[in-house]
Order: sequence, then structure tokens, then C-alpha cells
Amino acid sequence: MSKAFLIALDQGTTSSRAIVFTPQGRLSASAAFEFTQHYPKPGWVEHEPQDLVDTTVRSLQEAVKKAGITPDQIAAIGITNQRETTLIWDRKTGQPIYNAIVWQCRRTAAIIERIKQDGLAALIKDRTGLLPDAYFSASKIRWMLQETGTQLRAEAGELCFGTVDSYLAWHLVKGRPHVTDATNAARTMLFNLKTQDWDEDLLRLFNIPRAMLPRIVNTAEHIGELDEHILGAPVPVAALAGDQHAALFGQGCFQTGDVKNTYGTGCFMLMNTGDTPVSNDKGLLSTMAWRIKDRPVFALEGSVFVGGAAVQWLRDELGIITSAAQSEALASQVADTNGVYFVPAFTGLGAPHWDMYARGTLVGISRGAKAAHIARAALESIAYQSNDLLSLMTDCLGHAPDALRVDGGATANDLLMQMQADISGIKVLRPQVVETTALGAALLAGIGVGMFENEQAAASNWQLEKEFSPNWDLLTRQNRKRCWNNAVKTALFEAKLRKESEACS
Ligand code: ADP
Repeated sequence: MSKAFLIALDQGTTSSRAIVFTPQGRLSASAAFEFTQHYPKPGWVEHEPQDLVDTTVRSLQEAVKKAGITPDQIAAIGITNQRETTLIWDRKTGQPIYNAIVWQCRRTAAIIERIKQDGLAALIKDRTGLLPDAYFSASKIRWMLQETGTQLRAEAGELCFGTVDSYLAWHLVKGRPHVTDATNAARTMLFNLKTQDWDEDLLRLFNIPRAMLPRIVNTAEHIGELDEHILGAPVPVAALAGDQHAALFGQGCFQTGDVKNTYGTGCFMLMNTGDTPVSNDKGLLSTMAWRIKDRPVFALEGSVFVGGAAVQWLRDELGIITSAAQSEALASQVADTNGVYFVPAFTGLGAPHWDMYARGTLVGISRGAKAAHIARAALESIAYQSNDLLSLMTDCLGHAPDALRVDGGATANDLLMQMQADISGIKVLRPQVVETTALGAALLAGIGVGMFENEQAAASNWQLEKEFSPNWDLLTRQNRKRCWNNAVKTALFEAKLRKESEACS
């Protein structure tokens, strides 16, 4: 039988999964294993590095077994991963010097504050496309070297830094390559988008020796063979990609202006911006889409902090539904929100408002407001927030995209998808394979081994499941958006008043 199956290893924040795709891009089998989250102090999040490797290997072995295939039927493996999470290990022994510091971890917030106070935010944005934040790897590396007293060892080249893609490649691929791909590099806050290399000024700023950094490879590139002991035979490992970038690829967003939104706990929107990084001053990040055959493609990225989490709140705190899926039935009991708007700013508001003081705000409640109106307002809030990001991206691009491609757990909700089409005034396209992150990593691996010539050749693997077309007329859209904007302004005004009264007390 020909080597035609592609496998994605999706190393996420809470679990590691392996997904086997058939030659037609259909899901054949998958396996997943969760691992322990470590919270040593409030706001700190760590992973045990060995857990990441073990659960990845186990899921791969299990998925291959379930698919009933042999290693010689696998064309290639692609790795996609939680981004920014930082590891440092001994180049000789592979022993980590510390646990993995997870992207969510806030322990380095003070380092970032200092950088902002020193007026270095503009430099960082110009070089990396990012706004300085503790999420990204740079401050985490600084912290780890300092706390473990290993600066000199790093300078002597005895230590390796890597994000999760890099750590897995080192542990799973024969010959232990020390590599990372351009999408993962772009999340370290040390990668210069224009030169496509580590930035000397930023390395100096964070006092990070170049000797510890991985070689930056293409997103689709044959980096070596899987260690034989894992599946009993070597298999090419041919892609490394950060999870959101793999999803953009898996959604077939290959043209400038193509955009996808992932509806999970939060929402992640990425738009392909073509050959040049696009800068903006509204808080969107400029980043890599991918790099194939040394040709970089760029993207804009924005996120909604509370997406599906608003539905979890209806379920877990308000108790008006017992499952996330029930939100659709409850919200469908009413034709509209009857003037109720909900801004789920539980942890502040992101782009374009950027107010970390903002808190959840419900407005427009009249005596007739029912649970169904609140559920409907919660679903709408996911679509309105996503639309705010889409509008920013549309401004940067200069014209509205044709359609929004969607994935993630909450896209199962047809009502929410219809709301998105109505609010944004564009088609919403839900693909047959909603595992777009895994599909993207698998297709990239296919390109890495030459199974597909380029993006376009891989495109036929994206197939539509359902299209949602906008029903609202322009006036309705404008009126509703105005009401949403007023609700956001209310949340921002309340935050301002609260800040002022805190300052007085
Ligand atoms: P993550 O990867 O962030 O864990 P998932 O893609 O698994 O997220 O999606 C889970 C999120 O989607 C949860 O926040 C949940 O509340 C929401 N969700 C799942 N199903 C539905 C649904 N049918 N309607 C609305 N929200 C949903």
C-alpha cells in the first residue's frame, strides 16, 4: 500500500492528541491523553516536560493502532503545539533545568512592566509584531536563567531553549535536531519578522545568548525521521507549526484577506495578510501565517478573552443551562434579546478597547427579561466581540473579506454561527473537518515531504459542511451594533468610575 496517511501531533495546553488522516483528508482515528497542570503559586502555571513527551508518544502509538495502519503507510507526521510555553534543557543529557513555564503564567509580569516603563514597547512591536506581554517566551527565558543561575552555562552553549515544537522535535526525532519553525519563533518576542531571524537587539535586551536558541526552519520542512523505537520504524517528521497558524492553514486560508475564527474558551481570529507584515495601532498582533520554501506569509491575529467561557458561565454560575449545547435551545425560545446586551468582560476587554479594569456588564434589562434573553445575549456577545476583531482586520486590509471560516467547540451551535453571519454581514463557512489545527499540521507535513507541491495543492482537502448567510438588512445591523457599542461603553465607563473611586479610597 502507498504511503498516504498523514498524522498530526497536537500538543495542547491540557492534553496531547494524535490524529490520523486518510489520503482524502478525512479523519481516520485519534487518541488523546491529558496531563497534570501545576500551579505552584497564584498566577503561575507549569507543565512537567516529560509529561508532554510521554502523552504525545502514547497518543501517537494509540492512534496508529486504532487506525490499523503500519508505519510504512504513513507519509509524514506534522507537529502543532501550544505556543509560547518555554523549556530549557541540557544539550548533552536532554534534562530540563526547570519545568515548562506555560504561556498563561504571569510570573514575569514585572519584567514586562519594566520594559514598558523603559519605553521599549515600540521597538518590540516594530521588530516582532507583538505587544510586550508575559505570555511570550522572552521574559520566561530570562526568568528561568536567572532563577536557576544558569546564565554562564547558556552562554557556553550547554543549554537549549525551545518552545514545545522544539522540545518534541529534539525528543522524538533521530539525531536530536535543535529546531523551531518560524511561526513558533514569532511567539518568542525575539524573532524579527522582517529578517526572519533572531533579533540581536532583543537578545541583548533580554540578555539571552544566541548559543541556546534553535535553528529556525520552514513550517513545512522535513526535519528528520521519527525515532524508530516509537513506532518500530522511521517516519518523516515534516512540519512544525503553532496551533493557531496550523488552524489557519487547515482552514485553507491561503489568499490575502482569508480569515478564520476559532470559537473555544476564548476566540482566536487570524487573517492571512500575504507577503508583508501589516502593522496596526489597534492592538492586533502582526505575526507569521507560515513559512514554506523560505517564503514567509504573514498574518494579523486578534483574540477574544471570553468566548465559549460566557456559555460556561451560563451553565456553571447562573445555572440556567446544564450543558453548553443547551444554550442554543434556550436562546432559540426568543426571537431577539429584547434589548438585553451582555459584555462578558470577566477579565477585562482586549482589542480594540484594552481595558483590564472592565468587568462583565448586562444592560437593557426590563421587567420581561427572561433567562432565554440572557442566554441569547451571551451567544450574541461572542459574535459581537469576534466582529469587533473582524472590523479591525477589515480596516487594516482595506476591504471586507468574502467569508469567515470557523472552527472550535462552539461552532457546533448553529444559532451562534447564524448570529455571526448576521452581525458581520458576511458568509460564515463551517468545514467538514472541524479539527482544522490537526488537519493543517498534517497538510503542512504533506508539503514537507513533497506529497503536495504547495498550498493550493493541499486546498482540496478543505470541504464545506454548512454555510450561514447574513439575513439582517443594513439598518438592522447598524442599529444592533450601535446598541452593542453602547453596552461596551457602559462597561468602560463603569471601569473608569471604579478606578477613580479606588484611587480616592
Ligand atoms: P478549548 O479548546 O478552548 O478548550 P473547545 O474548542 O473545546 O475549547 O470549545 C469549548 C468551548 O465551547 C467551551 O467554552 C464551551 O462552553 C463552548 N461550547 C461548546 N459547545 C457549545 C455549543 N453547542 N454552544 C455554545 N458554546 C459551546
